Amino acid sequence: MKFKGIPASPGTAIGRAYLMSEESYCAIKRNIAENRVKKEISRFKKAIVSTEKDFKNARNKAVEDMGKKYASLFDAYMLILKDPLLYKDTIGIITEEKVNAGYALQSVVDHITKTFSMLDDEYMRDRVRDIQDVGNRVMRHLLGTGRVNLKEIQTRVVLVAHALHPSDAVEIKKENIVGFATDVGGRTSHIVIMAESLQIPAVVGLKRISREVSPGDLLIIDGTEGVVYINPEPEVVREYREKKRIEEKTKKKLIKLKDRPSVTLCGEKIEVEANIESAVEASTALEYGAEGIGLFRTEYIYLNRSELPSEEEMYERIKKVAVTLKPKPVIVRTVDLGADKLSDQLGIKVEKNTFMGLRGIRICLAYPSLFKIQLRAILRASAEGNIMLMYPMITGVKEVNSANHILEEVKEDLRNGGIEFDENVKVGCMVETPAAVMDITHIAQMSDFLSIGTNDLIQYTFAVDRVLESVSYLYNPADISIIKMIKQIDEAAYAAGIWAGVCGEMASDTLYTELLIGLGIRKLSMTASAIPKVKQIIINTTVQKCRDLAQRVLSLYQPQEIVDQLKESRDLIFSDTDN
Ligand code: PEP
Ligand code: MG
Repeated sequence: MKFKGIPASPGTAIGRAYLMSEESYCAIKRNIAENRVKKEISRFKKAIVSTEKDFKNARNKAVEDMGKKYASLFDAYMLILKDPLLYKDTIGIITEEKVNAGYALQSVVDHITKTFSMLDDEYMRDRVRDIQDVGNRVMRHLLGTGRVNLKEIQTRVVLVAHALHPSDAVEIKKENIVGFATDVGGRTSHIVIMAESLQIPAVVGLKRISREVSPGDLLIIDGTEGVVYINPEPEVVREYREKKRIEEKTKKKLIKLKDRPSVTLCGEKIEVEANIESAVEASTALEYGAEGIGLFRTEYIYLNRSELPSEEEMYERIKKVAVTLKPKPVIVRTVDLGADKLSDQLGIKVEKNTFMGLRGIRICLAYPSLFKIQLRAILRASAEGNIMLMYPMITGVKEVNSANHILEEVKEDLRNGGIEFDENVKVGCMVETPAAVMDITHIAQMSDFLSIGTNDLIQYTFAVDRVLESVSYLYNPADISIIKMIKQIDEAAYAAGIWAGVCGEMASDTLYTELLIGLGIRKLSMTASAIPKVKQIIINTTVQKCRDLAQRVLSLYQPQEIVDQLKESRDLIFSDTDN
């Protein structure tokens, strides 16, 4: 069977399926260590208490809305919750078999279902349905607190899930997860960005893949074309094995460009830098020839933990990157929590539709103490390397002013404490909202540099959630509105005597390299693995050719015509240099 989705992270992966469908996360059997048994039992007990609370609330509402007699239904459910058959037996299985609570509970419910269904008694069969319902409700609470930890996957698998979140990505070990496929997700959702940086081939937006795949199925992930095969014919497997071999050969060839200066045929320097999410990626970035870190996404330090990271921990992580890259620059973005990178342990109220809510600089300004800790850590690290600081999600000068005001307070504190930092640390703004573009002249005057976050800029310009597959057809960097915005930003930067770079995914895609150069951009920050290919374009083009291309594109307005122009120019370079 062949399924078409959205190509997310390029490359081929072949392997057996590991299914993480929403319903089955919990019920997958996982052996736990002796010292985890107590914790697992307490997780189960907590889920029972939460379910009981739900039933009590539902009972009260039912009595209020419909009268007292409806309370008995929930009383019966609450009795089942505490029935030894369910409660004690589940704890018994966790203790004796040393397995996760979800699996133990599912085993108990399955056993009860099997036993009671054999009885020729209508009443008893109804009770079985009640038990299943109660079991599912407890399971939902277990799900919230006990999603399969991807770190625990021990064999090399292709991960299939309804959805994956940035907090899952933090747990992914590249050695064990060779590829992934999800029902939902858009091209620039953060999980996809992370897959690309880990070089894990991925296809998203497959709609029903998690329901079509069974654990252990043989899967092929074609992350370049956005295709997934379930149990393909042997000749398809052979074809993809060959494709994979060629991919690896090309990769080796491209990586040889690592030390080649990133300069056009006419001698213009185009800076190629890497986007990283964690300190460990800094050395990988150098291996791919990164000339700096154009975007260090610091929010991953905050995910999957029960308390806020300390200033010291943050300082150590940022310092590590600064020292690894020294004297090359590292742009540290202040935390961009919110949206799909929410950390529910931080006590920050979770809102609906958080892409439009409290995220990025808004969270920092709303929680100045959180912001100050981070600024102290970044500033301290600036004494150890070439660090610049960048604010995400700026919508206007007021936010820049407020953020700068807090920054000055932190600097003053450090001075008073005799703590070293770079007094001339450069401070830039991300341009990723249409509001910022409309007032870019003033924002540029207040900044040392600008960095265009096309992922969000496209999302907010077209009002399309970047995570949603249903509207992904509207998500198009090759739209004239985006191209004009980039031109406008670059012109404002030039007028203010500063530089503007691009750090959104558009910079990783060779389709746009010549266009961006033609629009005036001289600094591109991307997924590290994309650097060699982008460099291949840079060293085989001229600024004049890029300007001509940009000029032609600016006179077009049909997205397909724009893509065709860009493709023609790019493919010519690849066909000339690949032979
Ligand atoms: C962007 O929006 O383009 C960007 C680089 O930031 P992020 O993807 O982390 O939101
Ligand atoms: Mg962004």
